[in-house]
Amino acid sequence: MRIFRRAADLTDHRLKLDNQGLSAGFVPTMGALHEGHISLVNAAKASSDFVIVSIFVNPTQFNNKEDLAKYPVTLEKDLIMLEAAGCDMVFVPSVEEIYPAGYQAPHYALGRLEQLLEGAYRPGHFQGVCQVVHRLLDITQPTHLYMGQKDLQQCMVIRRLLELTGIQTQLVILPTKREATGLAMSSRNMRLSEAERVHAQLLYQVLSDTLLQYKLGGDIDRLEADGAGRLQDAGFTVDYLKIADAETLEAPVAGHKAAVLVAAALGSVRLIDNVIEA
Ligand code: AMP
Repeated sequence: MRIFRRAADLTDHRLKLDNQGLSAGFVPTMGALHEGHISLVNAAKASSDFVIVSIFVNPTQFNNKEDLAKYPVTLEKDLIMLEAAGCDMVFVPSVEEIYPAGYQAPHYALGRLEQLLEGAYRPGHFQGVCQVVHRLLDITQPTHLYMGQKDLQQCMVIRRLLELTGIQTQLVILPTKREATGLAMSSRNMRLSEAERVHAQLLYQVLSDTLLQYKLGGDIDRLEADGAGRLQDAGFTVDYLKIADAETLEAPVAGHKAAVLVAAALGSVRLIDNVIEA
């Protein structure tokens, strides 16, 4: 496994492989890796000639500086996990490597996606996500890009980024890896206390119950209020619990797949999760 710190070195290497007709699967991450990330690496390995993973905590997507300062960093362990998973190239850039002097952030026309759900609670977040993914795609030039359904709205934003830029990379969205308790794996779970981790299981239970009740014809407003109420009673601060169209995240439409999405904090740890109709 080769580790690259400079963008130019990685691009040079990538172009050599491209000249040999080899495909590249790319998995962007912010590190503090867990089995969810590794499931993306495994999927990339299964369908690409080689796999590139980036580890970069992108400052421009954090609207809350405290959240950025507290983001877990476990580089040594991450590299061991990636080596064991058979990753070929790891990109660990500095902030200056991604945003060199003179970098001008484009504005990405994300439309409603930027106003709904996470967009409303994290102003500027999705512009930051687009900035970093756009830079990383330019540097790594992957055939396929692997992302997790755990961040459903982010997947939709990146699909839009690909449309807006005309970049030919294929987006592959993979299911959420969960603990045996149902808790979605997340780097942020490391910051939960043991007691909070037990409480956090309720997120998936509420999501699953809400989706089931919705499929049985329950009233949307009432289901959203009941689900949020259950979480609040258990000590969560709920930003939103929404039933939405799984493709657009707007109000659900009969005959389309629905999703239930949640963002809620336990103490200072904000968690997001979602489930989609089968
Ligand atoms: P992050 O390091 O949190 O920015 O996540 C990097 C990628 O891993 C994103 O595409 C996430 O959606 C994905 N990811 C995070 N958690 C999970 C999970 N539990 N299962 C599957 N993919 C995940």
